[in-house]
Amino acid sequence: MSFSRFEDFIAYQPQVAQMLLNSFRKNRLAHAYIFEGPRGTKKPAAALLFAKRLLCLNPGTDQNPCGTCRNCLRIDKGTHPNVFSIKADGENIKVDQIRQMISELARTSVEDGPRIYIVEEADRMRAEAANALLKTLEEPGNDIYAVMLTDKFASLLKTIVSRSQVMHFRPLEKAVVRSELLAKKIPPCLAGVIPEYTNNVEDALRIAQSNEMTAMFDLVPELYGTAGKNDESMVLRFKEIRDAVFASTEMTDYFLTLLILYQKDLLLCKLARVSEIVWTPDQEKLQRLAALVSQEWLEDILGKMLALKSRLRYNIIDSLAFDNLLIQLERGFMHAI
Ligand SMILES: [Zn+2]
Repeated sequence: MSFSRFEDFIAYQPQVAQMLLNSFRKNRLAHAYIFEGPRGTKKPAAALLFAKRLLCLNPGTDQNPCGTCRNCLRIDKGTHPNVFSIKADGENIKVDQIRQMISELARTSVEDGPRIYIVEEADRMRAEAANALLKTLEEPGNDIYAVMLTDKFASLLKTIVSRSQVMHFRPLEKAVVRSELLAKKIPPCLAGVIPEYTNNVEDALRIAQSNEMTAMFDLVPELYGTAGKNDESMVLRFKEIRDAVFASTEMTDYFLTLLILYQKDLLLCKLARVSEIVWTPDQEKLQRLAALVSQEWLEDILGKMLALKSRLRYNIIDSLAFDNLLIQLERGFMHAI
């Protein structure tokens, strides 16, 4: 999917979008760009907007492509012969792939006007392939542009970096991820919480649409719902969902993140910062639970949760530590400390 206008691009990536827009305004484009940043930061959409603006037959004075000419339409459909996508064939992007592309370009189907190479996972390009590509870009008279995408900037060859203009794509703002989820008809409550877990829109959507993960989303407030009740037990309730929690590292991480968010919300209620909570539908319950315990205890447990989370980063799943955590949670609310 491409951005259709620079305004859309700016909403996701204000800095790089503005830089690129200015280059078009001043007619000062580089021939080689590196779009660098984590997954899910809209690099491919930006590369297609770049191609569209270059090839559009009626670009506006605001620099936006028209979106309706035959070139714009073909780029949307992925059928424009002047826009080439290069992907690794096996482990690496091979020099033969680049040479073949250049020779194809020299003859047949290509139309007049600029040509744009979009190199996916550019960190897989070895020196020989990179040199072949950059050489054609730098030959005078060639109206050719390369946009190289990578989420592993550190692995990119120095020769590529030094001959390109680097654009740093930043992780998306939580508010942007949230509005994207809302636009996809994800319930507001989920759309509020998931961006606290990931700022990758694709991952966020996958979570919002996964039955196992949304079930987990309901289980955490339910677990806390048993807190402080004589006839219910957090520990026993946790035992029932244990298998689901430990089904995969991702699931454990997700569950723990939800626990942390809930615990944080409790702390925010305790601090009378209710407007900042993410679990908005649970506000009443959160306030009732927060009143049972002290700020120190809430912070102490939150610290333990965060420590568990940092160990998960090294793929250490300590299920005993989770059991202990649940015991402490249950006791805390029971004895109202
Ligand atoms: Zn157009």
